[in-house]
Amino acid sequence: CGIIGIIGTHDAAPRLVEGLRRLEYRGYDSAGVATLVEGGIERRRAEGKLLNLDAKLREAPLPGVIGIGHTRWATHGGPTEANAHPHATRRVAVVHNGIVENYQELKAELIEHGYVFESATDTEVIAHLVTYYMDKEGLGPVAAAAASFKRFTGAFSLVLLFAGEEDMLIGARHGTPLAVGYGEGEMYFASDAFALAPLTNRICYLEDGDWVELTRAGAVIHDASDAVVERPVKTTALSG
Ligand code: GLU
Repeated sequence: CGIIGIIGTHDAAPRLVEGLRRLEYRGYDSAGVATLVEGGIERRRAEGKLLNLDAKLREAPLPGVIGIGHTRWATHGGPTEANAHPHATRRVAVVHNGIVENYQELKAELIEHGYVFESATDTEVIAHLVTYYMDKEGLGPVAAAAASFKRFTGAFSLVLLFAGEEDMLIGARHGTPLAVGYGEGEMYFASDAFALAPLTNRICYLEDGDWVELTRAGAVIHDASDAVVERPVKTTALSG
C-alpha cells in the first residue's frame, strides 16, 4: 500500500517510519522496515499500527543509512507479521504495492529450484526470483532486477534493497505510482511524494514501465524497453 526507500547519510530507520506515518491515511494492516547492517539485510516487522513497529524498533534498534519501508494492505495472505513486508532472502529485500498476478506459476518454478517460501504473499516471489537470477544465472543486482521485471504480470510498484550494496536501491513502476526524491547527498523513493515532504521537495514522477537504479549520485531511469530515459524533476509545493 505505502512504499518508502532512503539512500541516506545518517540513520534510515526513524526516517523510514516517519515517511510511513505520512502514508497512514491510505490505510494498512501491518508495517515493516529493512536496512543494511554491516552489509546484511536486517528487518523489523509488525502487525497492526506503526506504534507496534515503533515498539519493536525501540526494543531492538535498527542501524543503517540505507533502507526500505512498507505499510501493507493485504491482498494475498492474512495480515500477519510473517506476511508483512519487507520480504527478503539472504541477498535481496523487497517492498511491493499491488499484485503480482502470475505469482503462483513463479512460486512453483522457484520451489522446483529449491527456494523455500516463508509467507503466503504474492510479493515473496519477487525476492526469490531476483535471488534466482543472481545465484543461478550469475547476474549482478541490476541485471537480475531487469530480468525479473520482465517476468511479472499485474499492476504493481516495488523497491529492492541488496545485501552488500550500500549505495543502491532499484525501484520499478508498473501500473501503480512510484516517485523519486532528490536530496542533499541522499536519494529517495516513495509511492506518494507526500511521504518525502520532510526530506525534499524535488520530485520526479516516474512513468509506467519505468525502472530506476538509484544511488547517492542520482537516478538512472530506464523505460520498459530498458533504454535510459530522462524524466523531469519538479519542485513541489508540499512541505514537511
Ligand atoms: N499484494 C501484496 C501483499 O498482499 C501487497 C499489498 C499492498 O499493496 O500493500 O502483500
